[in-house]
Amino acid sequence: MKRLLYLEPYTFAFIGEKEAVIYNTLNSAYIHANLNHPVVRNIIDTLNNPDNGYGIILDDKELEDPEVKSFIYAVRESFSGDLVPFKEGSTKPFIFKPAPYMNNLVEDEDDPDNSKTAGELALQNLCEVTLFLPVNNVQSDDSFYHLQMNHPYNCHNENQLQIEDYATVLHQLFIAGVNRVNVVGTDQLLAFNHLFGNSDTKLYYYTSLSSSIPEQFQIDKPLEIFIHPEEITVETAENIKIHHRDGIVWNFILTSITDVERVDKLNLPEHIDYKYTPYYDGSNMPFFEQHVFNGLDDIIAKPVSRKAIFRRQLLNENFFGKHWIDAAGHVYGNMNCAPVGNIRNGSLKDMATKLLVEKQFPWLLTREIEPCKHCVNRYLCPSVSNYELVMNRYNLCHVK
Ligand code: SF4
Repeated sequence: MKRLLYLEPYTFAFIGEKEAVIYNTLNSAYIHANLNHPVVRNIIDTLNNPDNGYGIILDDKELEDPEVKSFIYAVRESFSGDLVPFKEGSTKPFIFKPAPYMNNLVEDEDDPDNSKTAGELALQNLCEVTLFLPVNNVQSDDSFYHLQMNHPYNCHNENQLQIEDYATVLHQLFIAGVNRVNVVGTDQLLAFNHLFGNSDTKLYYYTSLSSSIPEQFQIDKPLEIFIHPEEITVETAENIKIHHRDGIVWNFILTSITDVERVDKLNLPEHIDYKYTPYYDGSNMPFFEQHVFNGLDDIIAKPVSRKAIFRRQLLNENFFGKHWIDAAGHVYGNMNCAPVGNIRNGSLKDMATKLLVEKQFPWLLTREIEPCKHCVNRYLCPSVSNYELVMNRYNLCHVK
């Protein structure tokens, strides 16, 4: 008797150069398929063709093959699909192979007449903007932190925006419906909050401990304060205890495992909200290899949802929908890339159009790049990160 092998719509078949994987998005089951075996190869190729309704009819001979048996057993045991009797002459059920909905990045379902321009639709995707305030007191060795995190940054430009200029920028962001504005600065944060703290846009502030003044700790908005490795001291811990309030997150920048141990030794009380952010300083790759790189177990530790897989097939989930604007008004799709314009003489719509419609780097940066593009996990792995852009290396993993 013939049988129908099918996959559930929440299951994906990923094909790499040398192997294929069946991945169940509900329970994170991850099943290897041996592409060197001709019948398994045919099963995978057939399932991968959307015209085949995510199923294949197999005869007794094929089903008796031990490699096929073990593959189908794994699929059924993990609830990723099933094998059912198939009556000769009957119609094969059709299951849609999961695929991302391609029309929704620059098309609006609520705009059936297409009355909006591509630029207006691109702008609808802008959801987060980071504003760097003019900074005069960032130490020179701080100057690369902003490439990896929202750290204060001196852009060394004589023609810097003045605090008052940010009113125009904030107004543009408000009109564009941007949900979140990150404001990164040092001594100018208080002045900014004084002038714009009551705006309708959600504001999140970032500064660094070395450039903070105690009055800044009282800003009535979420505030993240970076603490550099050389500042992990008993005095800093005392300062944190004195100045902590709800809404402050103390962010320890780490370059080595020793830094982690030093933070642990500070024994900060439980009510203090703090976190760690690894920093690549050009010489600490072993630290990243040991503590930041992903193994396969990390990648599938939690089920990767259908939506996440679709997103990762189309765009970069770390950068998409975000702008960074430096104190000279330059607008970036990411601080590691060239600017896409200047807010003084270009509109947010123009910048979003460049990044989305004209596909300028990096909103649509997926793992379809070397060496990840040959890897079976390219849609399971998180999108390319700042670390990878800084290192110019796109596979921070232990997966061979
Ligand atoms: S980082 Fe790239 S090479 Fe490594 S597992 Fe992910 S997709 Fe594969």
